[in-house]
Amino acid sequence: MTTPQHSPRAFFPAENGELLIGGMPVSRLAARVGQTPFYVYDHAALAARVAALRAVLPDTLHLHYAIKANPMPAVVGALAQLVDGLDVASGRELRVALDTGMTPEEISFAGPGKSAGELEQAVAAGVLINIESAREVRLLAEIQARTGWQARVAVRVNPDFDLKSSGMKMGGGPKQFGVDAEAVPALLAEIKQQQLGFEGFHLFAGSQNLRAEAIAEAQRKSFELCLRLAQDAPTPVKSLNLGGGFGIPYFPGEQALDLAPIGANLAELVAQASTRLPGAHLTIELGRYLVGEAGVYICRVLDRKVSRGHTYLITDGGLHHHLSASGNFGQVIRKNYPVLVANRMDREADENVSVVGPLCTPLDLLADRMNLPHAEPGDLIAVLQSGAYGFSASPRDFLSHPQPLEVLV
Ligand SMILES: *Cc1c(COP(=O)(O)O)cnc(C)c1O
Repeated sequence: MTTPQHSPRAFFPAENGELLIGGMPVSRLAARVGQTPFYVYDHAALAARVAALRAVLPDTLHLHYAIKANPMPAVVGALAQLVDGLDVASGRELRVALDTGMTPEEISFAGPGKSAGELEQAVAAGVLINIESAREVRLLAEIQARTGWQARVAVRVNPDFDLKSSGMKMGGGPKQFGVDAEAVPALLAEIKQQQLGFEGFHLFAGSQNLRAEAIAEAQRKSFELCLRLAQDAPTPVKSLNLGGGFGIPYFPGEQALDLAPIGANLAELVAQASTRLPGAHLTIELGRYLVGEAGVYICRVLDRKVSRGHTYLITDGGLHHHLSASGNFGQVIRKNYPVLVANRMDREADENVSVVGPLCTPLDLLADRMNLPHAEPGDLIAVLQSGAYGFSASPRDFLSHPQPLEVLV
């Protein structure tokens, strides 16, 4: 069958009609897992992705994994061996990060609504807390005074610009994230007054961006903004987290991100930092880009139905397991993820069908009018690009169907 042009299947070849994941034919893998549906994440693909990044990024730049994209402990554990640090966004993610053995020095904690309990957990752990409000300064001062444990903090800045052509904007204009750039000097004075352990700044402008030049421009602007804000810092900046937002291609017409210009731009910023912010290290934090293409969602065809001339493949998986592939997680106009009949890879895609789930809602759609090889009940459907914002971003109890499993191979 012809693979969609935009769908990079570099990690998943086919052999004798079967998609190979982690080197194993998908039918055998399904038997090994013991059920469908399941998510499978490929360790070699994670390693290859990190290696490709390292090849273009400057040596001294720290590469962090943002756990939010895929918090499965085995995946986080594998990535902890490959990257320099982990970024968490809740107390539970913090526990997963600490369980990997990653040094707390290289774990950071961001999020607009940290509870007092989570802040105390983070101070006790000794991780870097990205402060997002004056309330967090007050709570941290109280925890520090009561316990005697030094709070390590950076200020998360809501920049005065946004990341152009981003799937999801997370900075610029009014936002619930971070502290408005113009309010940062007053917050820095408060941090100094309360004797919190100031280390630097954190910016995160947006997510799912496929335009290298837009990402490079946002990183340059973030760097310049931090240089300005550093003038009001209580102590020299040690850490500057420039965010990420690197996207992956999901839909027809999208192209993989060109890493070379981003690497060159970051090399230039690292060089500038050595004179303009001596003693500071630069970090980028990536979620989707590290895990998204390494994951596949597998479900099984239960029924095949023709309704007024249109064919539906009804599967045991769907929206409740994979909200983003159904188009209901941040998409404005629904488009199909790359979908394959994973055990019919040697057949022509000569049928136009819709792949749906078992839920009683028309939203439960995995592929809308897509050309696929003829499939029958028992065949396996694969949804590629499913390693990020899949399992943990889906309403798995909706309609009370069985839960999917997750495996790392
Ligand atoms: C969501 C998030 C990330 C990860 O974003 P991706 O688009 O998955 O790379 C990184 N940092 C922060 C602060 C986030 O909120």
